[in-house]
Amino acid sequence: MELSEIIKEFKTKLNPLKIMNKLEKAAAFNEELNNDLEGNHRGVDLKNNPYSNSPSDFIKSFSAVKISQKIEVPLIKLTDVWKIYQMGEVEFAALKGINLKIYEGEFLVVLGPSGSGKSTLMNLLGCLDLPSKGTVCLSSKDISKLNESELAKIRGQMIGFIFQSFNLIPTLNTYENVLLPLEFQEEDAQKARKKAAYLLEIVGLLEKKQNLPSQLSGGQRQRVAIARSLAVNPPIILADEPTGNLDSKTGNYILDFLNDLHEREGKTIIIVTHDLDIVKYATRVVYIRDGEIEKIENRTKIGYEGLK
Ligand code: ADP
Ligand code: MG
Repeated sequence: MELSEIIKEFKTKLNPLKIMNKLEKAAAFNEELNNDLEGNHRGVDLKNNPYSNSPSDFIKSFSAVKISQKIEVPLIKLTDVWKIYQMGEVEFAALKGINLKIYEGEFLVVLGPSGSGKSTLMNLLGCLDLPSKGTVCLSSKDISKLNESELAKIRGQMIGFIFQSFNLIPTLNTYENVLLPLEFQEEDAQKARKKAAYLLEIVGLLEKKQNLPSQLSGGQRQRVAIARSLAVNPPIILADEPTGNLDSKTGNYILDFLNDLHEREGKTIIIVTHDLDIVKYATRVVYIRDGEIEKIENRTKIGYEGLK
Protein backbone atom coordinates (compact mmCIF):
# COMPACT_ATOMS: atom_id res chain seq x y z
CA MET A 1 0.00 0.00 0.00
CA GLU A 2 1.28 3.47 -0.90
CA LEU A 3 1.97 5.97 1.86
CA SER A 4 -0.63 8.31 0.40
CA GLU A 5 -3.21 5.52 0.62
CA ILE A 6 -2.29 4.82 4.23
CA ILE A 7 -2.72 8.50 5.02
CA LYS A 8 -6.07 8.54 3.23
CA GLU A 9 -7.26 5.45 5.05
CA PHE A 10 -6.10 6.92 8.33
CA LYS A 11 -7.93 10.18 7.69
CA THR A 12 -11.20 8.75 6.41
CA LYS A 13 -11.65 6.04 9.01
CA LEU A 14 -14.28 6.84 11.61
CA ASN A 15 -15.11 10.18 10.08
CA PRO A 16 -18.28 11.36 11.86
CA LEU A 17 -19.27 13.60 8.96
CA LYS A 18 -19.29 10.60 6.66
CA ILE A 19 -21.50 8.74 9.10
CA MET A 20 -23.82 11.74 9.35
CA ASN A 21 -24.11 11.92 5.58
CA LYS A 22 -25.03 8.27 5.44
CA LEU A 23 -27.60 8.73 8.18
CA GLU A 24 -29.09 11.77 6.45
CA LYS A 25 -29.41 9.93 3.16
CA ALA A 26 -31.04 6.99 4.86
CA ALA A 27 -33.37 9.27 6.80
CA ALA A 28 -34.39 11.06 3.59
CA PHE A 29 -35.11 7.71 2.00
CA ASN A 30 -37.15 6.53 4.98
CA GLU A 31 -39.13 9.75 4.98
CA GLU A 32 -39.88 9.38 1.32
CA LEU A 33 -40.89 5.78 1.85
CA ASN A 34 -43.18 6.74 4.73
CA ASN A 35 -44.83 9.36 2.57
CA ASP A 36 -45.32 6.75 -0.09
CA LEU A 37 -46.73 4.25 2.37
CA GLU A 38 -49.24 6.77 3.59
CA GLY A 39 -50.15 7.04 -0.04
CA ASN A 40 -51.31 10.64 -0.19
CA HIS A 41 -48.43 12.98 0.11
CA ARG A 42 -47.20 12.76 -3.41
CA GLY A 43 -50.00 10.76 -4.88
CA VAL A 44 -47.79 7.73 -5.33
CA ASP A 45 -49.47 4.39 -4.98
CA LEU A 46 -47.64 1.63 -3.19
CA LYS A 47 -47.38 -0.67 -6.17
CA ASN A 48 -45.42 1.94 -8.06
CA ASN A 49 -43.19 2.79 -5.14
CA PRO A 50 -39.85 3.21 -6.86
CA TYR A 51 -37.99 2.05 -3.76
CA SER A 52 -39.72 -1.15 -2.88
CA ASN A 53 -37.71 -3.14 -5.40
CA SER A 54 -34.44 -1.33 -5.13
CA PRO A 55 -31.78 -3.36 -3.36
CA SER A 56 -29.44 -0.41 -3.01
CA ASP A 57 -32.05 1.60 -1.15
CA PHE A 58 -32.91 -1.34 1.00
CA ILE A 59 -29.24 -1.60 1.92
CA LYS A 60 -29.15 2.12 2.66
CA SER A 61 -32.05 1.91 5.07
CA PHE A 62 -30.63 -1.28 6.54
CA SER A 63 -27.25 0.33 7.15
CA ALA A 64 -28.95 3.28 8.79
CA VAL A 65 -30.52 0.95 11.30
CA LYS A 66 -27.15 -0.64 11.93
CA ILE A 67 -25.34 2.67 12.40
CA SER A 68 -27.87 4.14 14.77
CA GLN A 69 -27.72 1.02 16.90
CA LYS A 70 -23.95 1.29 16.96
CA ILE A 71 -24.13 4.86 18.25
CA GLU A 72 -26.50 3.87 21.03
CA VAL A 73 -24.28 1.06 22.28
CA PRO A 74 -21.62 2.48 24.59
CA LEU A 75 -18.02 1.78 23.66
CA ILE A 76 -17.22 1.40 27.34
CA LYS A 77 -19.75 0.77 30.08
CA LEU A 78 -19.04 0.66 33.80
CA THR A 79 -21.78 -0.72 36.05
CA ASP A 80 -21.51 -0.30 39.82
CA VAL A 81 -17.74 -0.52 39.67
CA TRP A 82 -15.76 -0.72 42.91
CA LYS A 83 -12.00 -0.89 43.27
CA ILE A 84 -10.80 -1.91 46.68
CA TYR A 85 -7.07 -1.93 47.41
CA GLN A 86 -5.89 -4.28 50.13
CA MET A 87 -2.94 -3.05 52.17
CA GLY A 88 -2.17 -5.68 54.76
CA GLU A 89 -5.13 -5.64 57.11
CA VAL A 90 -6.49 -2.38 55.77
CA GLU A 91 -8.90 -2.10 52.86
CA PHE A 92 -9.20 1.12 50.89
CA ALA A 93 -11.99 1.76 48.41
CA ALA A 94 -10.50 3.91 45.62
CA LEU A 95 -13.69 3.68 43.52
CA LYS A 96 -17.14 3.35 45.07
CA GLY A 97 -19.93 2.28 42.74
CA ILE A 98 -19.08 4.05 39.50
CA ASN A 99 -21.72 3.98 36.74
CA LEU A 100 -20.56 5.45 33.45
CA LYS A 101 -21.29 4.93 29.76
CA ILE A 102 -18.91 6.31 27.16
CA TYR A 103 -20.09 6.67 23.57
CA GLU A 104 -18.35 6.87 20.23
CA GLY A 105 -17.23 10.37 19.29
CA GLU A 106 -17.11 11.81 22.82
CA PHE A 107 -14.35 13.98 24.18
CA LEU A 108 -14.73 12.99 27.80
CA VAL A 109 -12.78 14.70 30.56
CA VAL A 110 -12.71 13.07 33.99
CA LEU A 111 -11.83 15.86 36.38
CA GLY A 112 -10.84 15.39 40.01
CA PRO A 113 -8.25 16.33 42.62
CA SER A 114 -5.17 14.24 43.32
CA GLY A 115 -6.07 10.95 45.02
CA SER A 116 -9.71 11.01 43.85
CA GLY A 117 -9.30 7.76 41.90
CA LYS A 118 -8.63 9.04 38.37
CA SER A 119 -5.73 6.74 37.52
CA THR A 120 -7.58 3.81 39.06
CA LEU A 121 -10.58 4.66 36.87
CA MET A 122 -8.40 5.08 33.79
CA ASN A 123 -6.88 1.62 34.33
CA LEU A 124 -10.37 0.14 34.44
CA LEU A 125 -11.63 2.11 31.42
CA GLY A 126 -8.58 0.92 29.52
CA CYS A 127 -9.13 -2.68 30.64
CA LEU A 128 -5.67 -2.74 32.21
CA ASP A 129 -7.16 -3.83 35.53
CA LEU A 130 -10.30 -5.62 36.70
CA PRO A 131 -12.80 -4.17 39.19
CA SER A 132 -13.16 -5.65 42.69
CA LYS A 133 -16.92 -5.53 42.15
CA GLY A 134 -19.19 -4.54 39.27
CA THR A 135 -18.69 -4.94 35.53
CA VAL A 136 -16.67 -3.24 32.80
CA CYS A 137 -17.84 -3.81 29.24
CA LEU A 138 -15.76 -2.92 26.20
CA SER A 139 -17.81 -3.02 22.98
CA SER A 140 -20.57 -4.82 24.93
CA LYS A 141 -18.19 -7.56 26.07
CA ASP A 142 -17.76 -8.07 29.81
CA ILE A 143 -13.98 -7.96 30.10
CA SER A 144 -13.89 -10.19 33.17
CA LYS A 145 -15.22 -13.00 30.95
CA LEU A 146 -12.32 -12.71 28.47
CA ASN A 147 -9.04 -14.55 28.86
CA GLU A 148 -5.73 -12.66 28.87
CA SER A 149 -4.99 -13.01 25.17
CA GLU A 150 -8.53 -12.12 24.07
CA LEU A 151 -8.37 -9.06 26.29
CA ALA A 152 -4.92 -8.03 25.02
CA LYS A 153 -6.19 -8.34 21.45
CA ILE A 154 -9.39 -6.30 21.83
CA ARG A 155 -7.54 -3.72 23.93
CA GLY A 156 -4.77 -3.47 21.34
CA GLN A 157 -7.28 -2.85 18.57
CA MET A 158 -9.57 -0.49 20.43
CA ILE A 159 -7.49 1.67 22.75
CA GLY A 160 -4.41 3.86 22.44
CA PHE A 161 -2.84 4.84 25.77
CA ILE A 162 -1.05 8.03 26.70
CA PHE A 163 0.40 8.11 30.20
CA GLN A 164 1.82 10.96 32.22
CA SER A 165 5.11 9.13 32.53
CA PHE A 166 5.16 8.55 28.74
CA ASN A 167 6.09 4.86 29.21
CA LEU A 168 8.55 4.88 26.35
CA ILE A 169 11.09 2.08 26.20
CA PRO A 170 14.43 3.74 27.04
CA THR A 171 16.61 1.45 24.92
CA LEU A 172 14.55 1.90 21.75
CA ASN A 173 14.82 5.03 19.62
CA THR A 174 11.87 7.25 18.67
CA TYR A 175 11.09 5.31 15.51
CA GLU A 176 11.35 1.89 17.20
CA ASN A 177 9.08 2.97 20.05
CA VAL A 178 6.35 3.87 17.54
CA LEU A 179 6.96 0.74 15.49
CA LEU A 180 6.62 -1.56 18.49
CA PRO A 181 2.80 -1.86 18.70
CA LEU A 182 2.65 -2.16 14.91
CA GLU A 183 4.93 -5.16 15.03
CA PHE A 184 2.36 -6.89 17.24
CA GLN A 185 -0.64 -6.03 15.09
CA GLU A 186 0.58 -5.45 11.54
CA GLU A 187 1.55 -8.47 9.48
CA ASP A 188 3.19 -6.57 6.65
CA ALA A 189 6.58 -5.32 7.95
CA GLN A 190 7.07 -2.77 5.17
CA LYS A 191 3.62 -1.31 5.77
CA ALA A 192 4.36 -1.13 9.50
CA ARG A 193 7.57 0.83 8.84
CA LYS A 194 5.77 3.27 6.54
CA LYS A 195 3.03 3.78 9.11
CA ALA A 196 5.57 4.45 11.87
CA ALA A 197 7.31 7.05 9.70
CA TYR A 198 3.98 8.68 8.84
CA LEU A 199 2.99 8.87 12.51
CA LEU A 200 6.29 10.53 13.41
CA GLU A 201 5.70 12.99 10.61
CA ILE A 202 2.25 13.97 11.87
CA VAL A 203 3.59 14.64 15.36
CA GLY A 204 6.49 16.55 13.79
CA LEU A 205 9.30 14.31 14.95
CA LEU A 206 10.54 12.54 11.85
CA GLU A 207 13.92 14.23 12.11
CA LYS A 208 14.30 12.87 15.65
CA LYS A 209 13.63 9.28 14.68
CA GLN A 210 17.10 8.06 15.73
CA ASN A 211 17.01 9.75 19.15
CA LEU A 212 16.57 7.73 22.31
CA PRO A 213 13.86 8.98 24.74
CA SER A 214 16.61 10.37 27.00
CA GLN A 215 17.70 12.60 24.09
CA LEU A 216 14.26 14.22 23.75
CA SER A 217 12.50 16.99 25.66
CA GLY A 218 9.42 16.18 27.76
CA GLY A 219 7.09 17.52 25.09
CA GLN A 220 8.82 15.52 22.39
CA ARG A 221 8.56 12.38 24.48
CA GLN A 222 4.86 12.98 24.92
CA ARG A 223 4.53 13.39 21.14
CA VAL A 224 6.27 10.04 20.63
CA ALA A 225 3.84 8.54 23.12
CA ILE A 226 0.95 10.00 21.13
CA ALA A 227 2.34 8.69 17.84
CA ARG A 228 2.68 5.28 19.45
CA SER A 229 -0.86 5.41 20.84
CA LEU A 230 -2.13 6.08 17.30
CA ALA A 231 -0.11 3.34 15.68
CA VAL A 232 -2.90 0.81 15.34
CA ASN A 233 -5.44 3.56 14.60
CA PRO A 234 -7.62 2.76 17.62
CA PRO A 235 -11.08 4.35 17.89
CA ILE A 236 -10.43 5.27 21.55
CA ILE A 237 -7.55 7.34 22.94
CA LEU A 238 -7.18 7.20 26.71
CA ALA A 239 -4.87 9.72 28.36
CA ASP A 240 -3.86 10.05 32.03
CA GLU A 241 -2.72 13.63 32.78
CA PRO A 242 -1.27 14.01 29.26
CA THR A 243 -0.05 17.52 30.02
CA GLY A 244 1.06 16.84 33.60
CA ASN A 245 4.81 16.99 33.00
CA LEU A 246 4.75 19.65 30.29
CA ASP A 247 5.06 23.42 30.11
CA SER A 248 1.81 25.13 29.13
CA LYS A 249 2.81 25.81 25.51
CA THR A 250 3.72 22.19 24.84
CA GLY A 251 0.66 21.08 26.80
CA ASN A 252 -1.59 23.17 24.57
CA TYR A 253 0.04 21.73 21.46
CA ILE A 254 -0.67 18.19 22.69
CA LEU A 255 -4.29 19.06 23.53
CA ASP A 256 -4.89 20.76 20.19
CA PHE A 257 -3.52 17.67 18.54
CA LEU A 258 -5.91 15.40 20.47
CA ASN A 259 -8.73 17.83 19.71
CA ASP A 260 -7.93 17.57 16.02
CA LEU A 261 -8.09 13.79 16.19
CA HIS A 262 -11.48 14.11 17.82
CA GLU A 263 -12.94 16.61 15.40
CA ARG A 264 -11.42 15.41 12.14
CA GLU A 265 -11.28 11.70 12.67
CA GLY A 266 -14.10 11.16 15.11
CA LYS A 267 -11.87 9.50 17.65
CA THR A 268 -13.26 9.02 21.11
CA ILE A 269 -10.95 10.83 23.52
CA ILE A 270 -10.95 10.19 27.26
CA ILE A 271 -8.67 12.31 29.44
CA VAL A 272 -8.35 12.00 33.20
CA THR A 273 -6.85 15.08 34.77
CA HIS A 274 -6.85 17.58 37.63
CA ASP A 275 -6.24 20.40 35.11
CA LEU A 276 -9.35 22.58 34.84
CA ASP A 277 -8.07 24.13 31.58
CA ILE A 278 -8.66 20.88 29.71
CA VAL A 279 -12.42 21.13 30.31
CA LYS A 280 -12.74 23.57 27.40
CA TYR A 281 -12.09 20.74 24.94
CA ALA A 282 -14.68 18.42 26.46
CA THR A 283 -18.08 17.40 25.15
CA ARG A 284 -18.79 15.91 28.59
CA VAL A 285 -17.14 16.33 31.97
CA VAL A 286 -17.27 13.75 34.75
CA TYR A 287 -16.41 15.24 38.15
CA ILE A 288 -14.93 12.67 40.51
CA ARG A 289 -14.18 13.02 44.21
CA ASP A 290 -13.19 10.40 46.80
CA GLY A 291 -13.88 7.58 44.38
CA GLU A 292 -17.38 8.72 43.50
CA ILE A 293 -18.93 10.60 40.59
CA GLU A 294 -20.04 13.96 41.91
CA LYS A 295 -21.75 15.17 38.75
CA ILE A 296 -21.71 14.80 34.97
CA GLU A 297 -21.93 17.86 32.76
CA ASN A 298 -22.71 17.95 29.03
CA ARG A 299 -20.96 20.70 27.16
CA THR A 300 -21.26 22.20 23.71
CA LYS A 301 -17.87 22.72 22.26
CA ILE A 302 -17.46 25.70 20.01
CA GLY A 303 -16.87 24.57 16.44
CA TYR A 304 -17.62 20.97 17.33
CA GLU A 305 -19.44 19.17 14.55
CA GLY A 306 -19.23 15.57 15.66
CA LEU A 307 -22.06 13.27 16.62
CA LYS A 308 -24.21 14.75 19.32
P1 ADP B 1 -5.53 10.01 41.22
O1 ADP B 1 -5.05 9.44 39.92
O2 ADP B 1 -6.85 10.71 41.13
O3 ADP B 1 -4.52 10.87 41.88
P2 ADP B 1 -5.40 7.25 42.11
O4 ADP B 1 -6.41 6.52 41.33
O5 ADP B 1 -3.99 7.09 41.71
O6 ADP B 1 -5.80 8.79 42.22
O7 ADP B 1 -5.53 6.80 43.64
C1 ADP B 1 -6.76 6.88 44.33
C2 ADP B 1 -6.55 6.44 45.78
O8 ADP B 1 -6.21 5.05 45.81
C3 ADP B 1 -5.42 7.16 46.46
O9 ADP B 1 -5.79 7.42 47.79
C4 ADP B 1 -4.26 6.20 46.41
O10 ADP B 1 -3.42 6.37 47.51
C5 ADP B 1 -4.96 4.86 46.44
N1 ADP B 1 -4.23 3.84 45.66
C6 ADP B 1 -3.94 3.89 44.34
N2 ADP B 1 -3.30 2.79 43.93
C7 ADP B 1 -3.17 2.01 45.04
C8 ADP B 1 -2.59 0.72 45.28
N3 ADP B 1 -2.04 -0.01 44.31
N4 ADP B 1 -2.66 0.24 46.56
C9 ADP B 1 -3.23 0.95 47.52
N5 ADP B 1 -3.80 2.15 47.38
C10 ADP B 1 -3.76 2.70 46.15
MG1 MG C 1 -3.30 9.80 38.76
